Amino acid sequence: MDLIKLKETLDSLNLPTFRYRQIIKNYYSGRYLNFDQMTDLSLDLRQKLSESLNLLSVSEKNIVGDDSTQKVLLELSDGQKIESVFMDYDDWLTACVSSQVGCSLGCHFCATGKMGFKRNLTPEEIVDQILYWNQKIYPKYIGRVVFMGMGEPFLNWDNVLTAINIINSKDGLNIGARKISISTAGVADKIIEFADLDTQINLAVSLHSADQKIRESFMPIAKKYSLSQLKNSCNYYVGKTNRQLFFEYALMDINTNQNDAKLLIDFINSNRLFFLNLIPLNTVEGGMTPASPSQQKAFINYLDQSRIEYSLRRSFGQNFAAACGQLITSK
Ligand code: SF4
Repeated sequence: MDLIKLKETLDSLNLPTFRYRQIIKNYYSGRYLNFDQMTDLSLDLRQKLSESLNLLSVSEKNIVGDDSTQKVLLELSDGQKIESVFMDYDDWLTACVSSQVGCSLGCHFCATGKMGFKRNLTPEEIVDQILYWNQKIYPKYIGRVVFMGMGEPFLNWDNVLTAINIINSKDGLNIGARKISISTAGVADKIIEFADLDTQINLAVSLHSADQKIRESFMPIAKKYSLSQLKNSCNYYVGKTNRQLFFEYALMDINTNQNDAKLLIDFINSNRLFFLNLIPLNTVEGGMTPASPSQQKAFINYLDQSRIEYSLRRSFGQNFAAACGQLITSK
């Protein structure tokens, strides 16, 4: 919902401020699919709101999935489309939200990167993805939010931060900061800015290689922010926040030989608060080649010979292209 337009609509009707708060409370509850259902408002007001506003700024075009993972294609008011994912695992109902339509960073393993950049999402368009899922799963509700959908959150930071404040606020979605995660491809200067906010929001960095040349070869952003610059920013983050920082590492044929393991071990061991998440690569058309089972096994064996701590993550939603790096839309 466009909250500025809501305020303007109520002002034009000379309605008191408590009405605004009442509607906002209803809106964030996730219980209502339209204004007609808000029977604590007068019939006349419900009709006027329905005529001038959409309850959500996103509307469903298509939904696919299974019991544990669902992916929805959402249409925005200008006809652009984004994807958003719901996951039910580890006792947490999680929304994986998009922050941009497309992405300018062009990581070679990622379907979104192949779309190019179309535009930033507004804070409402980000929050409404969560409200959409809340409506869908009511009376359950989303308890965890990850910014791992389409786009680079740090390149739409003002809007993402405004959305996070709403998601985190007691008057908004009341989801604790520790249940919110930002994932970045490595926008090193924004990591510093983020650290200075001193929040409890989790940070994940898509590392995927600790070799500068290899990383550059499939993540163009590595040319702008070198590995050493990225490492400095990450050290600054953990020094400032004393929080763990998660590095994502998709297992590909290009990044899983013995030397890759050695460089990765050195990188992760350089700070006790660095933690490694290994992820099987989700394939996309024209993308990178996943590590074979034997390459994966050998790579993990190298890691096991070190003191490094890591987790091997399960991947959800590959069957219907809802997994990391597989989100794409066309317009
Ligand atoms: S992986 Fe993330 S940063 Fe890279 S192109 Fe895809 S959406 Fe953009």
